[in-house]
Amino acid sequence: MIAPGGTIGILGGGQLGRMMAIAAAQLGYRTHVYAPEENPCGGDVAAEVTRGEWTDNAALGRFADAVDVATFEFENVDAGALAYLAEHVRLSPPARALEVAQDRLAEKRFVADLGGRTAPFAPVDSPDDLARAMADIGAPGILKTVRFGYDGKGQIRIADGDDPAAIWAEMNGAPSIYEGFVDFAAEFSVIVARTAEGATRVYPVPENRHEDGILAHSLLPPPDVVTRQSDEAIALAETVAAKLDYVGVLTLEFFAGPDGPVFNEMAPRVHNSGHWTIEGAATSQFENHIRAICGLPLGATRMTGTRVEMHNLLGNIEGHAALSDPDVHLHLYGKGEPRPGRKMGHVTRVIV
Ligand code: AMP
Repeated sequence: MIAPGGTIGILGGGQLGRMMAIAAAQLGYRTHVYAPEENPCGGDVAAEVTRGEWTDNAALGRFADAVDVATFEFENVDAGALAYLAEHVRLSPPARALEVAQDRLAEKRFVADLGGRTAPFAPVDSPDDLARAMADIGAPGILKTVRFGYDGKGQIRIADGDDPAAIWAEMNGAPSIYEGFVDFAAEFSVIVARTAEGATRVYPVPENRHEDGILAHSLLPPPDVVTRQSDEAIALAETVAAKLDYVGVLTLEFFAGPDGPVFNEMAPRVHNSGHWTIEGAATSQFENHIRAICGLPLGATRMTGTRVEMHNLLGNIEGHAALSDPDVHLHLYGKGEPRPGRKMGHVTRVIV
């Protein structure tokens, strides 16, 4: 167990780390943010900030020496930095979880091997691979970069009859994966917290609505089509967490498909689709993440109301008007200038 007053290192400087740091402070811990950017919004609420690149082993080493445990709010930490860190400090979640989740092919194969359902997929590294994948799997489909894609970035939607050579040219040679398009009724996510002893707590499952590939709304309870599929998805998430010896909060995203839940991707961290838990659940995803990585027992995950809605403030900080409703809570991330599509904050409404 990490004693009160201990320091939690957070790799990444964004809003997820910011909300983790707030939860850590409540439990009596200090936080130390490591990030490459100049004014990380997570740094505003941390005791210390180290500005460093993901390839700067000297800076990473000093950071590792200064913290009792290190965790991630950002999953694309480079493999070299991960290996270096793992030698110098306890990482929760373990490096293996990041390695799997960083790679869309590896995560789909990992989940398929555990009996999970995925969209049909094939690796694509050339126009010929793409032509073959489109013929075998069929169109419509989506071509995604294997690494570094998030919020719909690095993705091209493909329709029947599209020219594989022209599409491949747009990927700039990045190793890619072609996925058949899932005809889903809704999207949802499973958020599970797991301790080093293997105890787990799973949050009620939200329906997630995306706009332009970016999460815009999480809604609970979800529609019946999601509720009918959530037990199977939760069982898969718990199996994945156990197989990875996972410690902390893990998120799996699913489509409610025609034959059951279809795994889309996992995030080895707290997740935007769990922001509703700050006021909408007995214990927030951020608090349970900190409890898990510090060796404390997990808190209850039940909803605090009958309905909860989370709405992202994308490219704007205009959430104050919503506060005229006394059941609404506003979170702004202190990111400065809004840019189109940028996650600036969120509002949560809890209906008792
Ligand atoms: P991702 O970056 O994989 O989360 O994709 C972003 C969004 O694109 C998802 O939330 C879905 O709305 C959509 N999407 C991604 N992959 C597929 C797929 N295979 N079939 C249908 N929609 C998809």
